[in-house]
Amino acid sequence: MIPELSVVVPVFNEARGLPDMIRELTQIAKGLAVSFEIVLVDDGSRDETWQVIQFLSSSYPELMPVRLIRNFGKEAALTAGLKASRGKAVVVMDADLQHPPSLIPEMYRLWKTGVAQVVNGVKARRQEEGKIHRAAAAGFYLMMNLMSGVDLKNHTDFKLMDRQVVDAYLAIPENRRFFRGLIPWLGFLSRDLHFVPNNRETGTSRWSVPGLARMGIMAICSFSSLPLQAVTLLGIFFLLASLVMGIHTLVLKFTGQAVEGFATVILLLLFMGSVLMFSLGIIGQYIAMIYHEVKRRPMYLVSSRDDKSPTPTGAKNHSIR
Ligand code: UDP
Ligand code: MG
Repeated sequence: MIPELSVVVPVFNEARGLPDMIRELTQIAKGLAVSFEIVLVDDGSRDETWQVIQFLSSSYPELMPVRLIRNFGKEAALTAGLKASRGKAVVVMDADLQHPPSLIPEMYRLWKTGVAQVVNGVKARRQEEGKIHRAAAAGFYLMMNLMSGVDLKNHTDFKLMDRQVVDAYLAIPENRRFFRGLIPWLGFLSRDLHFVPNNRETGTSRWSVPGLARMGIMAICSFSSLPLQAVTLLGIFFLLASLVMGIHTLVLKFTGQAVEGFATVILLLLFMGSVLMFSLGIIGQYIAMIYHEVKRRPMYLVSSRDDKSPTPTGAKNHSIR
């Protein structure tokens, strides 16, 4: 039977907080009085998460555990969960209770009444976090908005989606995805719902600053080719500047005034060298993305669907993308 609602939760090293989360989530889902399932994707956790999931699924029949062979990252875990989900509407949320399950009934109502096919959980304010983290996030959203025109400020991965949206998302062939940006890009009828995120109850954020920076660069490059065009613009600017300076230098030479200017030459060399390398870096970033996409490696590998029927290595549901 197709459940009315699926809740997909990517989980990585959340053994401590998971029982509370599942208790709160099922309580709220039961309040809706519709059939539901909770797809828990263990993204290769190194703590007791998988044992906790197995234990929980004996008391919560709504749980559908999916285990990835190793840690593939949140985006991959999320895709694996969406692929396993069957609901007519699908909610995606974090396992750390930063996304309050109490928002789900309102999300569901907006979808059920046909107001929206996508309901975005948007932060009314940001949770407590370090200054660097906050500044990096602000910089990222600004760049993303300038380059791709998608305003993602305070958007989160807490969303409800119609089955049609989930299918459209899963049909995207890209390997390296940015869920938060791709869903608005699909363009389905959407509504924002504001919520105040809780601070993490247990553990710490899995994101390091370099990790966030990598993700940010990937997201920007996958939504816009403006950085590449900026390289061309830079080239045109330097061509014009070199014409002016070339003429100036020739005039000085023929009027016999070309004497000093050694410092200028050094500074110009250093500056040009840096600009060239920076431009090469931008081009390299896009080539790296092409490289990762053309390999067509699977986004993740599923280890077993649940504890009762472990999938042997090489079995057919192994390389689901
Ligand atoms: N997560 C995951 N795989 C990872 C890292 C995180 O599935 O490699 C899950 C994590 O368990 C949580 C969600 O993704 O449910 C968000 O992670 P986190 O709270 O660390 O991120 P933040 O809230 O700081 O953005
Ligand atoms: Mg979190």
